Amino acid sequence: MSLAVLSKRATPEARLRGLRILVGNTPLLAIECEDDGMPRVVYAKAEYLNLSGSIKDRMALHIIRHAYETAALKPGGMIIEATSGNTGISFAAIGRALGHPVTIFMPNWMSNERKRLIQSFGADVRLVSAADGGFLGSIELAEQEARKIRGSFLPRQFANAENVRAHELTTGPEIFQQLRWHDLTPSAFVAGVGTGGTIMGVGAHLRRMQPSVLLHPVEPANSPTLSTGRKTGAHRIQGISDEFIPPIVNLDGLDDVIAIDDGDEILMAQKLAADLGLGVGISSGANVLAALHVLRSLPPDAVVVTVLPDDNKKYLSTDLVRAERVHSHHRTPYVTMHSFRGLNRVCSVCVDATDPGNLPVGWSTNRGH
Ligand code: PMP
Repeated sequence: MSLAVLSKRATPEARLRGLRILVGNTPLLAIECEDDGMPRVVYAKAEYLNLSGSIKDRMALHIIRHAYETAALKPGGMIIEATSGNTGISFAAIGRALGHPVTIFMPNWMSNERKRLIQSFGADVRLVSAADGGFLGSIELAEQEARKIRGSFLPRQFANAENVRAHELTTGPEIFQQLRWHDLTPSAFVAGVGTGGTIMGVGAHLRRMQPSVLLHPVEPANSPTLSTGRKTGAHRIQGISDEFIPPIVNLDGLDDVIAIDDGDEILMAQKLAADLGLGVGISSGANVLAALHVLRSLPPDAVVVTVLPDDNKKYLSTDLVRAERVHSHHRTPYVTMHSFRGLNRVCSVCVDATDPGNLPVGWSTNRGH
């Protein structure tokens, strides 16, 4: 095994290898709780443990590596992206570490923590007001900027199939292997949709391995973009439901959309932090509530998996750290958190997570089936 190298004199390939040590291969948590008196387990990938604190590092690292391979990005080329936050933080951290200038266009209503984090990683942030087009305006301005700058690279996360591939090659296989080592197979996977990379990529791998697996996208009930096809209202879950259905999302291949009230998500994210020490963002609350919703309609031993996309530190100026009013339709008050167990990271020395037949010596290939 070679040491992780991040010296400025190292080649981009060596620097990429160094960054890879801190991206992906996260623990899978088995969160034990009670929902209305019924014992439940929700399996959730701790994606907030990635390099820059979110699941988007997987996508940024994979897209940059692919862009090197196809020569779409050359050494020193500028990376320009439109994002509601975490993607900007990921491209800023990884792009700058690889020696690229990075410019991020984002709506001006995203949390200050997001803006400042992107700047702290050395990227240029351009804020776009609602009057200038908000999220869709950010995408258009990023395209215009790229036309002006020779050698620039647009990851285009909403339309780039490599966003889906990142999860098909890493998140999905990791989940499958981590469950398999505990004699479990997934019954369902649920995930809030921003670009849709997570649900489409993890879904593609899990369906290949377990065709009966249910795949539920999650959206805010207050702004149901997936079920209506457009922006219909305001919501407080930064990172999901960005005003349109992304081109990489194919709803026909997925199961029912689950809608969760954003106040309920805030309450659940607060509960995960206060009761279990899991300091996660608002979309994690949405995903856990959606997983519990699916569990209610499945047999008691069903294995429902989701992701905890980011941590709570980017939300210190938002409603996540304020008292949230409880409504009668909220489910969180009926949920009691008990504890969580960690399902270990995949041992990358002895197991290739992308190869289902690749198990350690002495391990029965029938295990888990
Ligand atoms: N939650 C958060 C906090 C995010 O930043 C994102 C990414 N926009 C998501 C969920 C959704 O992930 P995806 O883009 O893969 O659908």
